[in-house]
Amino acid sequence: DMPPLVREQSLRSGLACSAVRFRAQRMRWGSCTAAGVLHLNAKLLFLSRELADFVILHELCHTVHMDHSPRFKALLASHEPDMERLDAALRTAGTMVPALLN
Ligand SMILES: [Zn+2]
Repeated sequence: DMPPLVREQSLRSGLACSAVRFRAQRMRWGSCTAAGVLHLNAKLLFLSRELADFVILHELCHTVHMDHSPRFKALLASHEPDMERLDAALRTAGTMVPALLN
């Protein structure tokens, strides 16, 4: 069972993951295992829709490239041409999460 946010990004990009897990994490918005399991920070729900979508897309691209190499960035950019702006927005997005959850 895929959360709708993830299912939409998966359909849009054509990138599939094997499973999705949500949990509160302090440092990262998400990660992806070699087996294609996406671990998403539950705090994503406090971000704007476009930033949450971008995090999910970023992790889906890790199902192809497990690093942040130029190939990874090219793949991400092919699905999200606005990635530079979204990356920058994400770096300050922690302030959108209620302090209680940090
Ligand atoms: Zn990454």
